[in-house]
Amino acid sequence: MKTGSAWASALSQLDEAAAAMQLDPGVHEVLRNPRRALEVSVPTRMDDGTVTVFKGYRVHHNTSRGPSKGGIRYHPAVTLEEVKALAMWMTWKCAVVGIPFGGAKGGVVVEPRELSMGELQRMTRRYTSEILPFIGPERDIPAPDLGTNEQVMAWIMDTYSTREGFSVPGVVTGKPLAIGGSAGRNQATARGVMYITLATLKHRGRAIEDTRVVVQGYGNVGGGTVELLHEQGCRIVGVSDVKGGVYNPDGLTPEALRQHQADTGGLQGLEGAQDVTNEELLELDCDLLIPAAIEGQLTRLNADRVNASIIVEAANGPTEPEADEIFAQRGIAVVPDILANAGGVTVSYFEWVQDIQAYSWSEDEVNDRLRKIMEQSYVDVLAMGESRGVKMRTAATMLGVGRVAEAHATRGLYP
Ligand code: NAD
Repeated sequence: MKTGSAWASALSQLDEAAAAMQLDPGVHEVLRNPRRALEVSVPTRMDDGTVTVFKGYRVHHNTSRGPSKGGIRYHPAVTLEEVKALAMWMTWKCAVVGIPFGGAKGGVVVEPRELSMGELQRMTRRYTSEILPFIGPERDIPAPDLGTNEQVMAWIMDTYSTREGFSVPGVVTGKPLAIGGSAGRNQATARGVMYITLATLKHRGRAIEDTRVVVQGYGNVGGGTVELLHEQGCRIVGVSDVKGGVYNPDGLTPEALRQHQADTGGLQGLEGAQDVTNEELLELDCDLLIPAAIEGQLTRLNADRVNASIIVEAANGPTEPEADEIFAQRGIAVVPDILANAGGVTVSYFEWVQDIQAYSWSEDEVNDRLRKIMEQSYVDVLAMGESRGVKMRTAATMLGVGRVAEAHATRGLYP
């Protein structure tokens, strides 16, 4: 249960890094504010003939290092403040992994599962049309996030292209392969989480096969992470989706979880496993906890009861600042979102590069380049943390903010 807002968390993380690196107060103030924020109404014809007006947003946090980049979220709890926080985290994330993008994010206040395919398509096309002046391959490039997928990206690409009069694949990433998507993009975030998890276990001298893992969220990121870590030899003992989770100390298999989800639409009731709530899941006996659902899951109210000794943040903003402090005091290692889940935006960058060059890479090439970037970024963040004596989140934020501040200073303040 969230106790604060994602925006408050994002600001407090920036302030902590700014203090640790003695950031110039003017640059600090610039970075505390999004560059621009757009709020749009999205009138949509429903299947019964009525019109529903959804609210949507697109925020550009910073573009000092290049065009802005960030996902589009469809979720009933989306707010402008949440989108601002997610856009800020995108700025640091792109800088941490050294890709030439700034940070952006978009969202629509909607429960996509309640819409028919036709309604979802009309809503997506109208939202795209409303944010059209904000996006473009050299301007701002959306991607999937919570509640959106490659089909939604295909509709965005088609709407933008139709308005331009020619195909513009580079306007979004996370597209289907048939229209300029990249091999490996679908699992890229999860694969990045896997590389970072393996690097963390190695650094901390832990054997993969002795690692008991709990994953909250079983969507694109959580589901992929379960599969890839299981493949690597970890024991997956707990998994949940929005309706609740399952626990089996002897281990769960991705095949059984996938089959049960396909048969029942959820995870609970899986044979041989015990049902748990999402609150209980976070406190299960395990070595590694991977939140892969939404923000604000680890708070001052439950941080004392978390049993894992390592937390790898696959979701954006799952840990509130007070919980971060408790974890630091308890010696629990937290690998922050802006490093751990940066695989998605990294392969999005590869997709954009391939689209612009009209030349596609093999999946092996994509995965190999991704692995190198994730492993190097892990080493960079670790080195920053050790040299400055700060926790990993502060180190990652300092690394990201430092690179953005350098670009900002080099370009100079307009006018
Ligand atoms: P998704 O919609 O594919 O899956 C989300 C999962 O979380 C689903 O299993 C859903 O049932 C579950 N969930 C939703 N609300 C929940 C709640 N209140 N409690 C527990 N579970 C809940 O979304 P995704 O793309 O996998 O994104 C998950 C997280 O990863 C988000 O924080 C997102 O911002 C972040 N992320 C995604 C990408 C990407 O490439 N998709 C990249 C970086 C970060």
